[in-house]
Amino acid sequence: MNEKNLQKGLKPSKIRELFEYSNALKQKIGADNVYDFSIGNPFAPVPQTIKEEIGKIALSDKNHSYTSTCGDQESRQAIATFLNTTYGSKFKDSNIFLTCGAASALAISFNALLNENDEVILFVPFFPEYPTILSNLNVKIVLVNPDPKTIEPDLNDLKNKITSKTKLVIIDTPNNPSGVLYKEGTIKTISSILEEKQNEYGTSIYLLSDEPYRELIYSKNRYPFITNFYRNSIITYSFSKVLSMPGDRIGYIAINPEADEAENFMYACVGASRTLGYVCAPTIFQKLIPHILGITSDFSIYKKGREILLDNLQNIGYQVICGEGAFYLLLKALEEDANKFSDRAKSFNLIVVPTDPFGLKGYVRLSYALPTQTIKNSIKAFKDLYDSYGDKK
Ligand code: PLP
Repeated sequence: MNEKNLQKGLKPSKIRELFEYSNALKQKIGADNVYDFSIGNPFAPVPQTIKEEIGKIALSDKNHSYTSTCGDQESRQAIATFLNTTYGSKFKDSNIFLTCGAASALAISFNALLNENDEVILFVPFFPEYPTILSNLNVKIVLVNPDPKTIEPDLNDLKNKITSKTKLVIIDTPNNPSGVLYKEGTIKTISSILEEKQNEYGTSIYLLSDEPYRELIYSKNRYPFITNFYRNSIITYSFSKVLSMPGDRIGYIAINPEADEAENFMYACVGASRTLGYVCAPTIFQKLIPHILGITSDFSIYKKGREILLDNLQNIGYQVICGEGAFYLLLKALEEDANKFSDRAKSFNLIVVPTDPFGLKGYVRLSYALPTQTIKNSIKAFKDLYDSYGDKK
């Protein structure tokens, strides 16, 4: 047995572990009595027009065949045109690679780009699957600390952590687990630091922007689209969260056509997807892409849940970091060890995820992709949890 993979299989992620715990508890005491903030499972309905379109596409035999490895040409062209019109980028169909969601977009990109001993920079807090996907590549993961108050990246720390071996820097905004949307100024500064370091070392440093929450923004702030700021940039995108279709497994990779090795990167993606056994993304959902670009589920339910939760948690006395997007927020644990806090929360039927696997100690993540009534009902449990600490907070 491959020891690394055996261990990953035997030890489920903390999120999955809590999710399973919550399902068992729901069986025992009834679903309405469990407040499960663990998993980022979008539940705003899939738009009706999209469901109908899937049905129509599925009726044609030709939509059940293999496509080319990098995906259906018309769909790749549709993505390029959509991105260019929306964000002023210059993609061609040949810069787009269709994937089974963002997870495989990440796996293919990492395998396409990285060699042994390369250094990969992650900003804390990071999506825990990044190190998992990177773990078979023998690369060195380097962590950049956040500003402890805002949980935005400490850009001086970024500057100090880049070396001649740095190949890839990964950002994820709006962020899982904090919801933080990077400001345009932050992206500009990251870009100028990377430019400066590329010049200093004579290397190419790629900036990968992982964007499954790109449209999930509750403020009026615009999304700082990465190719407008940095040349060696790669995007991984997914329709999972914005259209509530995580089970349909469809997303894409896009490389800035002006990147140093844009063409070779695409060939390397073809090679990587063969190595990993991703023959092609599901054809029905590839063919769906031209019909869904620019459409999202109705996020008002998340917005409402976010407001209720934020107001009430702050009124109770909790310290909360809640960015402008995604459907996550961070709650400061009421004791040093967030795992113990999460364990205590279970006794109030509250399921919250310690952020240790995200590289951040002392917090729990709450996913508010939940029915409004569940969020409202949970407030008393949060208050009881808070009060249970008495003076020990
Ligand atoms: N990247 C981030 C930041 C995520 O939060 C997730 C899912 O939670 C993914 C990637 C993977 O998404 P997908 O369902 O498209 O594979």
